[in-house]
Amino acid sequence: MPELPEVETVRRQLAPFLVGERIDDVVLRRADLRAPFPADFAARLTGATVLELHRRAKHLLADLSSGETLLMHLGMSGEFRVEQGGELLPVGKHDHVILQLGSGAVVTFTDPRRFGSMDLVPTDGLAEHPVIGGLGPEPLSASFSAAALARACRGRKTAIKVALLDQRIVAGLGNIYVVEALYRAGVSPFRRASILATPTGAPRDAATRLVPQIKKVLAEAIERASNANYRGGRFRVYDREGKSCLRPRCPGVIRRRTQAGRSTFYCPICQR
Ligand SMILES: [Zn+2]
Repeated sequence: MPELPEVETVRRQLAPFLVGERIDDVVLRRADLRAPFPADFAARLTGATVLELHRRAKHLLADLSSGETLLMHLGMSGEFRVEQGGELLPVGKHDHVILQLGSGAVVTFTDPRRFGSMDLVPTDGLAEHPVIGGLGPEPLSASFSAAALARACRGRKTAIKVALLDQRIVAGLGNIYVVEALYRAGVSPFRRASILATPTGAPRDAATRLVPQIKKVLAEAIERASNANYRGGRFRVYDREGKSCLRPRCPGVIRRRTQAGRSTFYCPICQR
């Protein structure tokens, strides 16, 4: 399933083809993906120019000159394919949406399992959108800081690991990245989220260590997803149950435990 780093990579690859281009024609081969396409979907896209392509959590948002935003989610298996000077003809049976751009490029959305989604919402109504409007700060943005994390976790009795997967606290962090960041920051996934903040909501040391590690883990994953030659390290704790802790001089052995239905890998010695 594509996580935030893969979705960001898709955004970076698609943006040069989409931004500033008019959608000249649309082929829709089904009435739905995970949910039905909005009414008159193809007609509402046709003739609109893509003003900007951004990402919120794992959603891609294309702002259109029509005043609407095309909200896209890749689901489990959604992919975009771009062909320069291609024809507006579906080639594969899972090619569901095909956009012909003014440049001559053709953008095809393929999704064998159809857990993806596409919707059109008024751009100026995104802040009230049931999904987008409730998202916390983007983890790679300046608004996600130790101070912001501490404020959001103040008084919360839930485990830190579970809090970091809550989209209202920080947007789009997947299980793997939370597990890795907690390990690198030396913070136990089982402690209460409230320990990240003082009683007045100021960040404690654990929050100050955690935030840069979250950003670093994501930045590395984006590098890995977008650059086939990237040789940076893989996971340091994820999927390493029973193996020795990689922290120098730590005698710990990595354990696995389930939290809120997801696997947590951790070192019982150096994560406090
Ligand atoms: Zn350790």
